Amino acid sequence: MKVFWKKTAFSTIIALIIFSLVASNGTKNKILSQDIRNSESCILAGSLNKHQQLNQLCTSTLNHISIPTPQTNLTPILNLNLTNKERFFAAITDKLLAIPQPGTYEYILLRAYGAAFVNHNPEVQLPSKVVFSDENETKEFQFTLSMGKVNGTNNCYLQKAAADALNQAKAQVNIPLKSGYGDSDCTRTFATNLRFWRKYANNKTLARVQQGQEKKILGTVAPPGSSQHLWGLAIDLRVANEAQRQALNQNGWFRTVEYDVPHWTYIGHPLDQLDEFGFENKVIGGISYWLTPL
Ligand SMILES: [Zn+2]
Repeated sequence: MKVFWKKTAFSTIIALIIFSLVASNGTKNKILSQDIRNSESCILAGSLNKHQQLNQLCTSTLNHISIPTPQTNLTPILNLNLTNKERFFAAITDKLLAIPQPGTYEYILLRAYGAAFVNHNPEVQLPSKVVFSDENETKEFQFTLSMGKVNGTNNCYLQKAAADALNQAKAQVNIPLKSGYGDSDCTRTFATNLRFWRKYANNKTLARVQQGQEKKILGTVAPPGSSQHLWGLAIDLRVANEAQRQALNQNGWFRTVEYDVPHWTYIGHPLDQLDEFGFENKVIGGISYWLTPL
């Protein structure tokens, strides 16, 4: 059950590829039988949750089937008729150790904060789970990060690729930090995440979030261990005009957490590619958010 979505997304892609190859012409039977074997192995690896094997196998399978001849009606993978949810899961499937199941706390967190997982920049590190259990686990992850400083700040650090992209936006137009102080707007420790949580919420709130009864608090503060700020891929900014928003979007930064107006996430893709990953645009009070389709 844990790999249900993975299987669904991959099975859909593979089934469409196999169908299209069958339809293309009969002379490809020899290649096709090999492809089917590869595809079956690919799906099997997915069902067993073997990430390494899955990646190598599926990548080589998909690369090998290069959708060649003009007489076919094949379209590129990303234009296939997948649902937004399937596109999103296909994009993040190799990032997490296990894809959270609907109805679980992890799924709720993935829905609220999972936008960053579509980042495909090889320099960007993502956690293998959606919530860290304590300071040690957080530090263990943060220790692996290569960080860069946000220009014009005293103590604001993000993952280097995210900082570089933000600095490019800041070179186009002035974009101040929300507080102006630096570290609390940028990469945070587990302790800072916890302190903020306790300022606005408590254990009862957490229980309600986990049971799916409370959602709006997630736009004010992230539960302990779940903030995008722990990953070095989020920043709180004072964005007041269209030029600032455009500069951020052009450099891969988007508002992805519903109701959290100052909060920006580094997705690393331009605006016109967000559809491909299943993102859904929602405008609330004139603020445009790009939300996961979960
Ligand atoms: Zn934030």
